[in-house]
Amino acid sequence: MFYRKLEDKKVQCYLCERNCVIPDGKVGFCKVRKNQNGKLYSLVYEKLQSLQIDPVEKKPFFHFHPGSQVLSLSTVGCNFRCKFCCNPNISQTEKIVGKKVLPKEVVRIAAENNCQGIAYTYTEPTVFFEYAYDIAKLAKKEGLYNVFVTNGYAGEEAIDKISKYLDAAVVDVKGSLDQKFLRDYCSVPDGKPILEAMKRYFDNGVHVEITDLIIPKIGDDLKKVEELARWIKDNLSENVPIQFIGFFPSYQCLNLPYTAVETLKKCRNIAKKAGLKYVYAYTSQDPGNPMNNTYCPKCGELLIARYGCSMVDNKIKDQKCFSCKEKISIVEYSHRC
Ligand code: SF4
Ligand code: SF4
Repeated sequence: MFYRKLEDKKVQCYLCERNCVIPDGKVGFCKVRKNQNGKLYSLVYEKLQSLQIDPVEKKPFFHFHPGSQVLSLSTVGCNFRCKFCCNPNISQTEKIVGKKVLPKEVVRIAAENNCQGIAYTYTEPTVFFEYAYDIAKLAKKEGLYNVFVTNGYAGEEAIDKISKYLDAAVVDVKGSLDQKFLRDYCSVPDGKPILEAMKRYFDNGVHVEITDLIIPKIGDDLKKVEELARWIKDNLSENVPIQFIGFFPSYQCLNLPYTAVETLKKCRNIAKKAGLKYVYAYTSQDPGNPMNNTYCPKCGELLIARYGCSMVDNKIKDQKCFSCKEKISIVEYSHRC
């Protein structure tokens, strides 16, 4: 899917915003799409690398079927090169590895394990688009929901095609989309397509949540936090949840410190001041921090209590605050949507 033929058996892939021009016999930037004799092939179709059952809060979705379980999966490959990636063995591996599992088998595993949905996650799902698409179509038929955990770099046509079967997307922003940071630490030339992707999913009716990874010293500019929060309010909605995520040392960034709780608190205050109603902050250093909970934006009552990636209590009834009856923007849990 998503390529055009060029002269000399070259092809151009437009599955993602890299728009790689790929000569015959070579792979694209993601290393998992190969030009073979002028045709572009996915090398990871039905090559399942990771499979696990997670609470949906771990993805992290806080306003979508809270308390439900998702079957989380990925192949190898990624279209970013984040130096702080926490799954580099999946995203950056040179080898195409994985077990052959048919889309219908994936859906069967989800249903048999009492999962309410399927999450395409751990690496960028766009790079295994054809596999995700075929699974998503079948999953939908079986009454399961589909969610993408994405870096937001998919091309417009890919977004439109998957949106038909996609219930929700969490767009993982890094360093509040600071241009220099994206270039230096993710090999991403421009953050604008990520904003455009958020808007496209949103306009297509996909439930959108956003995370922003705050990395000390290199990706913690509070002005960028404010810019991002204002952009979300002006272009999406004040109801779109955002979660500031604390960095932990990983991959090629082992020399950087953990993000301080105080910094996350500042980010949260800035986003709230910018007008966003549901703002969270999470660090693995302090999983019980109350910034992880949902409060009523009108009366301030605690509505959903969480500990780390688990929901502990949910007092929202019929999408309303139990106390003041304010409408809460949330897609509530129901067995099989
Ligand atoms: S999906 Fe891969 S091959 Fe296609 S444009 Fe993106 S990085 Fe290039
Ligand atoms: S986009 Fe995600 S999976 Fe890909 S390299 Fe960056 S952090 Fe890793």
